[in-house]
Amino acid sequence: MNDLAIRTLDDGETTIPGDALDDLAARFSGTLLTPADDGYDDARAIWNGMVDRWPALIARCETAEDIAAALSFAREHDLLVSVRGGGHNIAGNAVCSGGLMISLESMKRVDVDPEAKIARVQPGASLADVDAATQEHGLATPTGINSTTGIAGLTLGGGFGWLSRRYGMTIDNLVSAHVVLPDGRIVRTSAEEEPDLFWAIRGGGGNFGVVSSFEFRLHPVGPEVLSGLIVHPGDAAADFLRFYRDFAPTLPDEAAVWVVMRKAPPLPFLPEEWHGRDIVVVAAFHAGDKEEGERILKPLREWGEPIADVIGPHPYAGWQQAFDPLLEPGARNYWKSHDFTELSDAFFDELVDAAGRLPTGECEVFIGQVGGQMGRVPSNATAYPNRHAAYIMNVHTRWQDEAQDGECIAWARDLFEATKPHAAGTVYVNFMPTDESDAVERAYGDNYGRLAELKARYDPGNRLRMNQNIRPALAPEQSA
Ligand SMILES: Cc1cc2nc3c(=O)[nH]c(=O)nc-3n(C[C@H](O)[C@H](O)[C@H](O)COP(=O)(O)OP(=O)(O)OC[C@H]3O[C@@H](n4cnc5c(N)ncnc54)[C@H](O)[C@@H]3O)c2cc1C
Repeated sequence: MNDLAIRTLDDGETTIPGDALDDLAARFSGTLLTPADDGYDDARAIWNGMVDRWPALIARCETAEDIAAALSFAREHDLLVSVRGGGHNIAGNAVCSGGLMISLESMKRVDVDPEAKIARVQPGASLADVDAATQEHGLATPTGINSTTGIAGLTLGGGFGWLSRRYGMTIDNLVSAHVVLPDGRIVRTSAEEEPDLFWAIRGGGGNFGVVSSFEFRLHPVGPEVLSGLIVHPGDAAADFLRFYRDFAPTLPDEAAVWVVMRKAPPLPFLPEEWHGRDIVVVAAFHAGDKEEGERILKPLREWGEPIADVIGPHPYAGWQQAFDPLLEPGARNYWKSHDFTELSDAFFDELVDAAGRLPTGECEVFIGQVGGQMGRVPSNATAYPNRHAAYIMNVHTRWQDEAQDGECIAWARDLFEATKPHAAGTVYVNFMPTDESDAVERAYGDNYGRLAELKARYDPGNRLRMNQNIRPALAPEQSA
C-alpha cells in the first residue's frame, strides 16, 4: 500500500509507511479501505446524513482477531480511532475525520441455541438480523423499535423497546460478551468473569473496549403479537395526552403504549385528505395472551374518534419493522431527549404547542412508555442508571435540505428547554446528539464515578474517545 497520512490521538498527523500497512494487511482477514478504494464511500456513510466525515483508513473487520490487530495498530501509531457497529447513533461518533475507523459492519452472524434460549450475536448485526434468527424459534430478546439499528451500540448504551417492560432492557438480557481491550487482549466478560467490565459495558457505551460478540438470553415471544396504530387528529392531542396519563399506568408489563406527534405520512391506511396534516399516533403492543390484550387495550381503542385503528395480531418481527419506512438512513437528523417520572399538564402544554409548529413533515416527538421490569433493576446494578424513568421523550427532528439545519435544530432545542422544568433531569445516553457531550456525567448520574475508575483501568489513555466519552479518573496522586 502507499504511505498514508493519518490523524493521531493528539489531533496531529503522522505518516504511516506503506510497508507498515502491508504488514497490517497480512495479518488482517477483513478489508482495509482508503479514500481511493471502491466501497470506501459506502463504508463511511452512516444513518444520520448530517455526518460526512472522511477517515484516512477503514479497517472492515471479519473476526475478533481483526479487531485486535486494528486496535494494536492504532496503539502502535497513536491513532485517533472510531468504532462502527450498525452506524445508527445520532451523534455520528462511528466515523472519525482523518483517523482509523474500525468497522464491524461485516460481522453480522446470529446463532441461536433454542434449547438454552441463548443467541450469540456479532456486533455488525442489526435488530432485524437478531429478530429474524430468534423468531425462527418463536424467541426474542428486548431491543429497540427500528429494525435497522445496530445491536452493538444499542446494547452498549442500554437498549429499550416493546419488550422492555416485560423482560427488561437489552443489557438486562446480556449474559456475556467478548471484548477486545484497547491493549489488544480479547477477554470474555460476564457476571463471573471480569465482572467490573461486565457492569461497565451494560450502559457505559464503547468506552472500555470493542465488543466482538454478545450472548443474549431469549424469551418466548409471538410469532404473532397484538400490536398496531391508532391515529387521532392533531387537535385531539391535549385531551388524548391527559387520557394517556391515566391509562398508561394501568397497563401490565406485557403491554406498552407509545405516543407520537407528527404530520400524517402518506400511508395506505390513512385517508388521503389527512396526508400532511397534524396527527397523534398511538402505538400499542401486547406480548401476552391475545384475548387478554384485546381486553386491556379496549379503553384505548374506544377513546375519541380515531382517523384509523389498525390494531390486530401482527408477526412480532414485522411489528419491529413498522416504523422503518419513516426512519430510512440518509436524512439529516437532530435529537433532544428527556426522561420523565410523571407527565404534567404544563409539559403537555409545551408539547402540544411545539407539535403544532413542526418544522418539516418528517419531524416527530415521541413519548415511549418504559418502566415495568426495566424499572425494577437497581440503578447501580448496571452502568445504565435511569431506572426511575416511566417515560422517555425523544424530539426527533428530521429534514432533507441543509438550508433548514438552523431552523430544525433551533426548534428541537427550544422544545427541549421548554420541557426541561417538567422532566426528571436525566437522559438516555443513546439519544444524545454530539453537542451534548458535556451532559455525559449527567447521563450516568451516581454511576459516573465508578465508570471513570473503570475507564482508568481498561483504557487509561482514553484511546476509545469517539463516543459519549467517560474520562479516565485521575489516580489519587494526580488529583491531589
Ligand atoms: C431510527 C432510530 C431508532 C432508535 N430507536 C431506539 C430504541 O427504540 N431503543 C433504544 O434503546 N435505542 C434506539 N435508538 C438509539 C440507538 O440505540 C443508538 O443510536 C445506538 O448507538 C445505535 O447503535 P449502532 O451500533 O447502530 O450505532 P453506531 O453509530 O455504529 O455505534 C454507536 C457507538 O457505539 C460504540 N460502538 C458500536 N459498536 C461497538 C462495539 N462493537 N464495541 C464497542 N463500541 C461500539 C461506538 O462508540 C459508536 O460510536 C434508535 C436509533 C435510531 C437512529
